[in-house]
Amino acid sequence: MIYLDNHATTRVAPEVLAAMLPYFTEEYGNAASVNHAFGWRAAEAVERAREQIARLLNCPKDWIVFTSGATEANNLAIKGLRRMGTLARPSGEGTGKSAHPPNFITNTAEHPSVLDVAKRLKRLGTDVKILPVDRDARVDPQQVADAIKPETALVSVMLANNEVGTINPLAEIGRICRERGVLLHCDAVPAVGKIPIDLQPAEGGPVDLLSLSAHKFHGPKGVGALVVRRDGPRIPLDPLFDGGGHEQHLRSGTLPVPLIVGFGAACEMARLNRSVSEGIEANDVTGHSPSLTLRVTQIAALRDHLWQSLQSELEGLSLNGPPLAERLPNNLNFSVAGVDGEALMSSLKEIAVSSGSACSTAEPEPSHVLRAMGISDSLSRASLRFGLSRYTTEAEIDVAVAEVVRAVRKLRA
Ligand code: PMP
Repeated sequence: MIYLDNHATTRVAPEVLAAMLPYFTEEYGNAASVNHAFGWRAAEAVERAREQIARLLNCPKDWIVFTSGATEANNLAIKGLRRMGTLARPSGEGTGKSAHPPNFITNTAEHPSVLDVAKRLKRLGTDVKILPVDRDARVDPQQVADAIKPETALVSVMLANNEVGTINPLAEIGRICRERGVLLHCDAVPAVGKIPIDLQPAEGGPVDLLSLSAHKFHGPKGVGALVVRRDGPRIPLDPLFDGGGHEQHLRSGTLPVPLIVGFGAACEMARLNRSVSEGIEANDVTGHSPSLTLRVTQIAALRDHLWQSLQSELEGLSLNGPPLAERLPNNLNFSVAGVDGEALMSSLKEIAVSSGSACSTAEPEPSHVLRAMGISDSLSRASLRFGLSRYTTEAEIDVAVAEVVRAVRKLRA
């Protein structure tokens, strides 16, 4: 079976695995053990990884707080903002209402680890504003500006969308938040390793809190980070759990040294790909030097080839999301008119891709992102999401094309 579901997760790169292995077998010390060399070497490995991650994001290494992944990082960023928590509690305890509840602004295309947190905050008394997105799943900076109120504490906007690859105008949204004194959190999960991220662009970094997850770019599952800006006023974060005070008291718990080493190695691998002057310009996303671009041309070319081949063979395909040149280089998402989504998925035997419905519940629900974009439920159900990776080959793409063409023709016959 050909794996083309790299937005869900990715293969651990061989060099990443090789870097991790000694930390399972020989170097199994606890990074918090200060009394012996096992502990010292584990701590050194953690700090090396922290540096590798920081280098990819262009930030100091003490901004990195290790977590179990991006779900936790998103929860820590949003729930942890003490300012929001404090303000959410009315001064007259027990009334359940505040005259000026804090305001949290996000949007309909976010991952559930942001959207469901927003819903919970709402139940707890925060005034939550969930902005709509446009037909391409893009957040409009003007709408963010219009939604900010004096009591707004936080805005959360993802850098790139995990279903349709839309890249949000983060630099602009960041400037607005900065001007208005509002913190900006960014779920950067699908973007890391595909488009450049610079947390210290020349004209002032727009993002205050950034979430990432190693398993989306050839690192291991179960590790990620929240990056917490520390070059301005202190961001008042409360930890999600109490314990040994690890990670500057923001995330207690013994550090998973092998996973962290793998996370660092994956970042190093992604950073070293930053070498060509083609691809998506960094300017498009964070406003930093356009010469810092990633070697994404090859993946994008395969993705373009996939779409062109499918279109030349089949009628009635509609692209979901922005034009290919304006989205993540490895993403393709389209709907197939006139076929049943479930039947389409079950007839694709040779390729692993995602459909536009979340099968986590008994009744498959159409994707909330496609719905937010205004795509009908039946077209959402009959959609396919492809996620390519650095390991995808042209031969695999050709097999995928033949497989989709065969399945659609059969279903339409
Ligand atoms: N945000 C986005 C946009 C994602 O795609 C994912 C993973 N599906 C997450 C957050 C959650 O990441 P993790 O698997 O590390 O919890």
